[in-house]
Amino acid sequence: MRFITYATLDGETSPGVLEGGAIHRISTPTLRDYIALAPHERIAWHSSEELVPFAGVRLEAPVRPARNVFCVGRNYLEHAKEGAAAAGRELRLPDVPAFFTKAPTAIVGPDATVHLQARLSQEYDFEAELAVVIGARCKDVAEADALHFVFGYTALNDVTARNLQREHGQWFKGKSLDESCPIGPWIVSPDEVGDAQTLAIAFRLNGVEKQRSSTAQMLFGIPRLIAELSKGMTLLPGDVIATGTPAGVGFARRPPEFLSEGDVMEVEIEKIGILRSAVSIA
Ligand code: MG
Repeated sequence: MRFITYATLDGETSPGVLEGGAIHRISTPTLRDYIALAPHERIAWHSSEELVPFAGVRLEAPVRPARNVFCVGRNYLEHAKEGAAAAGRELRLPDVPAFFTKAPTAIVGPDATVHLQARLSQEYDFEAELAVVIGARCKDVAEADALHFVFGYTALNDVTARNLQREHGQWFKGKSLDESCPIGPWIVSPDEVGDAQTLAIAFRLNGVEKQRSSTAQMLFGIPRLIAELSKGMTLLPGDVIATGTPAGVGFARRPPEFLSEGDVMEVEIEKIGILRSAVSIA
């Protein structure tokens, strides 16, 4: 199933399930409220006969987590290599995932314009990522059980101000500017995605491919990420984990390529679809 959050022309926002060009409205206030229900409770909330034509709505970010978006740094070998080379550092691979977060105010929906400020950075960069949406409260999850706690998968663009990422020591500031976290266009359920660890993932800038890899290339797979993140720390329904980006990002290119006014960014992930965003830098 494809779970969305949509706004109608009169501005009303609702969660729904997209099926065959029509939307089955879900009657919880938000998709996060729906995800927080036990699986057997969810059925009652989307049995509504109310169908909304998809053509008449605007998609919003499918889910807004209760807190920061969890992210993983250097989770693809070739990206870890290009990062080390660009910084003139020796490649050192982590023994555990390097977690950081993006502020929830950074989240923006699909097909939106991302408004970035030229006075803060001349080094805005893109990162195509597979995002995992947590489906139930959990803690100390064993790797073998981890996928039971996945509600679904979506695409995410970890837009980064590289100068701020460097200057502030921690990555948080450079990763958390408003509208720097496009997410969507929808959350696809695990039964439709199948093995999330074998998906093609790509990024295009103005139609030109800049990143292409497979989620099979992750250094820490999704079960390990959930196990590590949930050690001693409760995960909540609707939490989002961005699983890292492959090689090909702008700062590591020779010469570096950063985002410009009028650019169109596309994250494409097999079985999920295309997350498209326009860039405005003023
Ligand atoms: Mg990233």
